[in-house]
Amino acid sequence: MHSAVAHPSGRRRSDVRDDDLAALRREVRAFLSAASFTPRCDNWMRGVDSGFTAAVAAQGWIGMTWPQEYGGGGRSNVARLAVTEELLRAGAPVGAHWTADRQIGPVILRHGTERLRREFLPAICRGEVLVCLGLSETEAGSDLAAVRTRAVPAPGGWSISGAKTWTTSAHLATHAYVLARTGPADPRHEGLTEFLVDMDTPGITVRPILDLVGEHHFNEVFLDEVFVPEHRVLGTVGAGWKQVTEQLAFERGGPERYLSTYPLLAALVDAVRRHPDRAAVERLGALTGRLAGLRALSTALAAAIDVGAAPTREAAALKVLGAQFEKDVVEEGRYVLDVTGGLEDATAAALLVDAVTAVPAGSVRGGASDVLRTVLGRAESTGGTR
Ligand SMILES: Cc1cc2nc3c(=O)[nH]c(=O)nc-3n(C[C@H](O)[C@H](O)[C@H](O)COP(=O)(O)OP(=O)(O)OC[C@H]3O[C@@H](n4cnc5c(N)ncnc54)[C@H](O)[C@@H]3O)c2cc1C
Repeated sequence: MHSAVAHPSGRRRSDVRDDDLAALRREVRAFLSAASFTPRCDNWMRGVDSGFTAAVAAQGWIGMTWPQEYGGGGRSNVARLAVTEELLRAGAPVGAHWTADRQIGPVILRHGTERLRREFLPAICRGEVLVCLGLSETEAGSDLAAVRTRAVPAPGGWSISGAKTWTTSAHLATHAYVLARTGPADPRHEGLTEFLVDMDTPGITVRPILDLVGEHHFNEVFLDEVFVPEHRVLGTVGAGWKQVTEQLAFERGGPERYLSTYPLLAALVDAVRRHPDRAAVERLGALTGRLAGLRALSTALAAAIDVGAAPTREAAALKVLGAQFEKDVVEEGRYVLDVTGGLEDATAAALLVDAVTAVPAGSVRGGASDVLRTVLGRAESTGGTR
């Protein structure tokens, strides 16, 4: 049997066999059950473990969809989705490669020079590259076009000065992706350029920001006349806005938008299995029904990317719905663990704490839900055109 996933254009993709995907999922589950890690909610962002990433790389599960000539696996995005869903379901620490695999590699493939492809893609596939995302600034979050970090021409390249904030894993990163202004601020969607910067370049200072529970995963990053060679421009000078908008389809449209709290959801199901409660079963049923819908949307997105689309609108929809779903897993989790006595299980209690502290970020990071709703509403009111 083949999966035939409807593509927004009306085309159908049918080159991924369901039994191949099932075998792939079994392979990932076997790998995970032999691996040593503590499952956590939101571990794609919080869990940076270079040893685990090296083991994932050795399986060929980083850069799975990229051409083999760059070290990739030449597989489909639907196959990649099977792997990433399994890693997330297990709450595995995939943060060391997540961003490079999810969005930076694909952007280098789309817009990078041959030199950049050869320099970065094989190293990402080996799990050696941790890229942090230098997009947000204190006055440029939802309104990303307001970035004030500036790159000016310098002999042999560019000199970048400015400050980024909320930069996840900058303190551990080998490279930063930086969006900087290279042209005038008006028109504001022009004159932006993307760069790939070595984190050990002189002029970069990283300062930690601790989250509500005192964990350190994001940072402020200051750039003071940081030299970036010409060949590290990603894509076209001045076309950064168009490119970054495409990139957000990869950032927003993945399964981490609805599976960050899956380890908690699995613990809830276990709790109800041990202590059946009718209302709890109904609530979990409602959640798992929504999860099935989100997974179908995610599969359609992966299939759309397989045929070369950058489905930004569908990705925004997945992110909005996924963020609300994850919040509701926590809300229902409090109830279910209460009525089933599940909080006596230390693992379930720890997962609830993890999820309570993680989910508020879900509707902000990668694009605030309020803003994405506006994007979706506008798209619909203009006839749903992309
Ligand atoms: C856990 C976490 C990790 C992050 N990691 C990174 C990272 O690695 N790299 C990076 O560059 N950034 C990162 N961010 C930053 C994130 O992308 C921004 O927080 C996000 O884009 C929102 O920007 P802001 O914080 O400036 O909020 P603002 O833009 O000030 O928005 C605040 C709130 O105002 C409302 N709002 C704003 N504008 C509108 C509007 N037009 N219409 C309706 N409502 C509106 C929304 O409710 C929004 O939540 C991270 C954030 C979090 C929480």
